[in-house]
Amino acid sequence: MNLAYSGGFLDRASDRRSDTAWVTALLGAPRARLIPIWRDCCLVSGDPPAPVTSLNGRRNGLVREGSTLLFLGLDGDTGVFAADLSLLDEDRAVEIAGAERVADVRAFSGTISAADAAMLAYARGLAYWNRHQQFCGTCGAATLSHHGGQMRSCSKESCGQLHFPRIAPAVITLVETAGPPQRCLLARHSGSAPDSFALIAGFVEIGESLEDAVRREVAEETGVRVGTVAYVASQAWPFPAGLMAGFRATAATDSLAPDGQEIVEARWFTRAELAQRSASGHSLGRVDSIDRHLLESWLNQT
Ligand SMILES: [Zn+2]
Repeated sequence: MNLAYSGGFLDRASDRRSDTAWVTALLGAPRARLIPIWRDCCLVSGDPPAPVTSLNGRRNGLVREGSTLLFLGLDGDTGVFAADLSLLDEDRAVEIAGAERVADVRAFSGTISAADAAMLAYARGLAYWNRHQQFCGTCGAATLSHHGGQMRSCSKESCGQLHFPRIAPAVITLVETAGPPQRCLLARHSGSAPDSFALIAGFVEIGESLEDAVRREVAEETGVRVGTVAYVASQAWPFPAGLMAGFRATAATDSLAPDGQEIVEARWFTRAELAQRSASGHSLGRVDSIDRHLLESWLNQT
């Protein structure tokens, strides 16, 4: 199964990226690939428009302009880097990238290769973490970049705290009833369009397993108690720092009591009802998202 933004297309060279001289040599090679990122956006040009995924040979100019270069990994023996242009204003970032505008990489899902989508999302996520870990959370001193931007350390000698990229895990769950006719649980979130339903999802809290989080989220949001919980798949979701873990769970109870705040309505749907909604134009979720994958695989199950 290949979910968008996942797939491990690059060799992250985690055993070598601590070697600063090696990373610097890769960055200095003429064919080093530099992927420009500007404040959670990619740079876009061309017809049809597509994200710029390479600024070969522009290292010196980018460094002069104050961009931060972050090592993503190897594509064969070519170093691939993110060039974070976020310190520049938007017009200047667009100009030096030779682009026309900025846009969210998710706007191009399905129109660019899976490898490019994964690399752009990874570049965006790593740049985001580096921008947001400029100071030590323990003592407040400035942090320093290491391992090509894959680690930061506190600059204050008496502290020396090491900081590694933070990922926020979230669970997303398709809850189904145990017996026939099987039905799946969807909920309408506060603020979503009328008649717009989605799977139950939420962040994992400290001290919880993924399965604990599934049971808590489903109970909190809909009042349904869940029995078995089975892992299905996970998806990188660096927008800005997520990791989605997808589950299928079996309901032990089926009476619904939505919380009325986050969830304004919860409802059970049979496969026939869900297929009918899909056929009449109701979305089953973003094309690039694991929730759509969970729903479609349930729908297509015979
Ligand atoms: Zn510190």
